[in-house]
Amino acid sequence: MVESDHTKRYRTRMQRKKEVIDEAIARANREQGLLLILTGNGKGKSSSAFGMLARALGHGMRVGVAQFIKGRSDTGEEAFFSKQDNVIWHVLGEGFTWDTQNLERDTETAQRGWVIVQKMLCDSSIKLIVLDELTYPLKFGWLDIAAVLNDLRNRPSMQHVVITGRAAPDALCEMADTVTEMADVKHAFRAGIQAQKGIDL
Ligand code: ATP
Ligand code: MG
Repeated sequence: MVESDHTKRYRTRMQRKKEVIDEAIARANREQGLLLILTGNGKGKSSSAFGMLARALGHGMRVGVAQFIKGRSDTGEEAFFSKQDNVIWHVLGEGFTWDTQNLERDTETAQRGWVIVQKMLCDSSIKLIVLDELTYPLKFGWLDIAAVLNDLRNRPSMQHVVITGRAAPDALCEMADTVTEMADVKHAFRAGIQAQKGIDL
C-alpha cells in the first residue's frame, strides 16, 4: 500500500518524539527519596497525595499519614486507608484555626504533632509519608520552618514525603524535587453544591 504524505509526516514526527523521550528516560537514571509539594487554590491536592499513597501500598510499601488540619472526621480516605495493613494514620490537628481561634493552643497542638512526624522521618521502614495540610502550621507560624526543613533534609535517603496545602512557603518549594500548583479554574461549591461523598470527602 502506498503511504500518503500525511501518514509519512506523522510517522517521522512520532519517531522524533520517541527519540527525545527515550533520551530523557535514559538520562534519568538515579533513584532517590523525593519531596513533593502539592499546592495552589484548586481542588486536587490531598486527593492526589492519597492517590500516591494507594500506589505505594500497591507495591507493598509501608506508609504514614499525618493530617495537620482536621476539617472533618468522616472522610472516605480515613475510613479506607486507616484500616489497611501497612498504614500509620495520625490526626494531629484539632480543627480549622478559625474554629479554635487560640494561637497558643494551635501552636502547642502543631508542635506536639511535629514530634510524631519526626519519629516517622527517622524510620526508614516507612517508605512514603503524606503530610496533609502542613502548609498551614508553617504559614501561621505554629511550626518553625527552618526546623521543619532540617528534619525533612535529614530523613532516610529513600523515603518519599508528600506535602499538601495552599500557599506553600518558597523555602519549602525550593527544597522540594517536584512542585505542583493546582489552579482553581472552577469549583462546584461556588455554584451552591455541597461537598459530595467520594469527590470532596
Ligand atoms: P481534595 O481533598 O478534594 O483534593 P484539596 O486538598 O485540593 O482538595 P483543600 O484546600 O484541602 O483542597 O480543601 C478540601 C475541601 O475543599 C474539598 O472538599 C475540596 O473539594 C474543597 N475545595 C478545594 N478547593 C476548593 C476551591 N477552590 N473552592 C471551593 N472548595 C474547594
Ligand atoms: Mg487538602
